[in-house]
Amino acid sequence: MRAMYYEAFETTPEIRTLPDPTPAEGGVVIKVEATGLCRSDWHGWMGHDADIKLPHVPGHELAGKVVAVGKGVRRFREGQRVTVPFVSGCGHCGECRSGNQQVCEEQFQPGFTHWGSFAEYVAIDYADHNLVHLPETVDYATAASLGCRFATSFRAVVDQARVTGGEWVAVHGCGGVGLSAIMIAAALGANPIAIDISAEKLDFARKMGAVATINAREVADVAEAVRDLTGGGAHASVDALGSPVTCFNSIKNLRRRGRHVQVGLMLADHATPQIPMAQVIGHELEIYGSHGMQAWRYDAMLAMIESGKLTPQKLIGRHISLEEAVPALMAMDKAADLGISVITRF
Ligand SMILES: [Zn+2]
Ligand SMILES: [Zn+2]
Repeated sequence: MRAMYYEAFETTPEIRTLPDPTPAEGGVVIKVEATGLCRSDWHGWMGHDADIKLPHVPGHELAGKVVAVGKGVRRFREGQRVTVPFVSGCGHCGECRSGNQQVCEEQFQPGFTHWGSFAEYVAIDYADHNLVHLPETVDYATAASLGCRFATSFRAVVDQARVTGGEWVAVHGCGGVGLSAIMIAAALGANPIAIDISAEKLDFARKMGAVATINAREVADVAEAVRDLTGGGAHASVDALGSPVTCFNSIKNLRRRGRHVQVGLMLADHATPQIPMAQVIGHELEIYGSHGMQAWRYDAMLAMIESGKLTPQKLIGRHISLEEAVPALMAMDKAADLGISVITRF
């Protein structure tokens, strides 16, 4: 198979021909039809993720067709259209048994713990517990765009922050995660406020359902600007970027008993940010992480997509080839693109 491959961090990946994967017991092999490019792939390539063992094939947001089925797989067969959450649970640990596969102790993450989907084929373990059947109406590129950012945002807004109609929701950072969170919060009837430093991204955020925008470069204090707009602070707030500044502001801008969800990754020297803990105590704030979403929760998200309430296809920017993904991956931290780049040519 053709795949993007690197033997050292921070060196230009190459496109190589590698042996086709075979399914493990309980696993499948998927012919990748579409796979999204994400900032986590950039973090991995930089060497920020301890799960990655070299040499490596990145890629974790994928959709495709099952082409081989390992021993013991019951729910899936060759030819079926599927996608998979980027964190796949083992199915038998305590977390999996309680329905929290997204924090499984023995998790399988394509593109991190194992070779990923920037390739013609990818092997996925624990298939019965994690693969998701794709409705015919959801195309591969859209499905691939769900796997990480959209699903994580869905869990962040719906399950972790428990956003309800009429609430103010601040969203810090308008990349793939932030725009997804805005679209999902708007679909729930909440009032999302988009915060970014790019006027262009804020314009796009309005089209995705933001009722107000704040350009962080143009205000002295972002948290104060949110409190002014919302009459006291946001009910829920998402740091969709992952930086000490956005994390701090996302907690600081909450009203009393507000909920903060950290979705943007905090790695390397950002791993231990400053938190306004006095406010967390005095105002009884809630702080959550959001780390992917369980396969069984995809039903709710797919139902909202099929009904037209959620339109993740609007977040897709460019369709690119495997070759074009190499420079795109290396420049991911600068992420000037509006929308998600998806590899659809292999
Ligand atoms: Zn598990
Ligand atoms: Zn991702």
